[in-house]
Amino acid sequence: MTSVVEMAAAVRRGELSAVAIIEQHLSRIDQDEADIHAFNLVMADHARARAAEVDGMVARGEDPGALAGVPVALKDLICTRGTPTTCSSRILEGWVPPYDATVVSRLTEAGAVFVGKTNMDEFAMGSSTENSAFGPTRNPRDLSRVPGGSSGGSAAAVAAGFAAIALGSDTGGSIRQPAALCGVVGVKPTYGMVSRYGLVAFASSLDQIGPFATSVADAALALDTISGHDEADSTSLPTDSARARENLGRGVEGLRVGVIAELAGAEGIAPDVAARIREAAEALAASGAKVEETSVPAVRYGLSAYYMIAPAEASSNLARYDGVRYGLRKPGADITEMYMATRSAGFGPEVKRRIMLGTYVLSAGYYDAYYGKSQKVRTLIIRDFEEAYRSFDVLLSPTAPTTAFELGTKTSDPLTMYLSDICTIPSNLAGHPAISVPFGTGDDGLPVGAQVLAPAAGEPVMFQVAEVLEAAAAAKGGGR
Ligand code: GLN
Repeated sequence: MTSVVEMAAAVRRGELSAVAIIEQHLSRIDQDEADIHAFNLVMADHARARAAEVDGMVARGEDPGALAGVPVALKDLICTRGTPTTCSSRILEGWVPPYDATVVSRLTEAGAVFVGKTNMDEFAMGSSTENSAFGPTRNPRDLSRVPGGSSGGSAAAVAAGFAAIALGSDTGGSIRQPAALCGVVGVKPTYGMVSRYGLVAFASSLDQIGPFATSVADAALALDTISGHDEADSTSLPTDSARARENLGRGVEGLRVGVIAELAGAEGIAPDVAARIREAAEALAASGAKVEETSVPAVRYGLSAYYMIAPAEASSNLARYDGVRYGLRKPGADITEMYMATRSAGFGPEVKRRIMLGTYVLSAGYYDAYYGKSQKVRTLIIRDFEEAYRSFDVLLSPTAPTTAFELGTKTSDPLTMYLSDICTIPSNLAGHPAISVPFGTGDDGLPVGAQVLAPAAGEPVMFQVAEVLEAAAAAKGGGR
């Protein structure tokens, strides 16, 4: 597969046409999408017209930009002007955003070509893409398995060759976990590194947009394109870009890598996954890094704290879907009945569960015991990471506790499903960046992801280490 870096360079030189690239991806979609269901909407006409525009610019001697002609898929909670954005929910039925998200404008300015809007767990709540109102997405590596979630459609689109890059959102692991399960690279940037203007909010103190790609270098190029300050997002950092490509090619000689003891060999981490992470640590050591096991004790409580904080914020963010302002409206005798009828019909069971959980932990009498306590745990996690980063440049852990599981196996037990994010949630709570890189396969032959964690704004060193892991996986023959 041509890399995005080469693809865009060839288009800019006029050696490869954007139309030919898009036709190739559309024919893959024609062939396999019926089995995989990565998309809620394939934008074939738009993509063809846009690719022709990019070729036209090159023909006129203009430069379309760093992602010239690159096919990009967007998770269906990223607003696209004039094109429906559903969050895979019935409640947004018929709603069409009146503006583009900042990431969409930036990709357009860089010459990218949008191929479609990808399927997801409803409002990004889930780890398997089975909570979509439009039916599940299947894992391109094995159609009987889930692709992970909630950005499962984006991960599957890249793994299946439907798009060269995809964007997802990550609140507790929704980019990294599906990347791991589908065998692609997935990045959650530092909180504030990528503008969220035009991202439909789930839990605002945790949400971040980030890229999927088939290689670390391609993910770095995509992140550098979408990151950087945006005055339309008040939580956006005052930096120019993530500088994800700054340290590529430097190797890891002398870098200090800490393997998180609480996550690497913990209870619930499958033995085959734990074995791959040990090999990843050995590979980094063999490349000259100083690798040691370390402890980040409070990460053990991350999952519990997350399932108070994220639903609390969601219960507030989702209050806006009331049948008045967006999408679906079900009639009722008075306004209260109309709200109830609309929200009962529009939201799926997991979204309702989260709204109830969140309302409960914020209610008078329970606020201190649940929400307040969770915020204290969050502070402890931040402190423990601070302590660890005094001794280490990056940390290493599995991305997900298991390889991709079969459809239907966790849907009846939400708690088991929630455990899928045990390794990814701590970075969201701390606001730190983390990346999942494919590293070999499990006993079932399906991909395993290794997670590299870095402190805030540590994208340069994070990608530097990820690139070495990627090369080691390729040398072993287990990676891509
Ligand atoms: N699976 C987690 C949840 O259901 C994380 C979701 C996400 O990152 N959007 O909340």
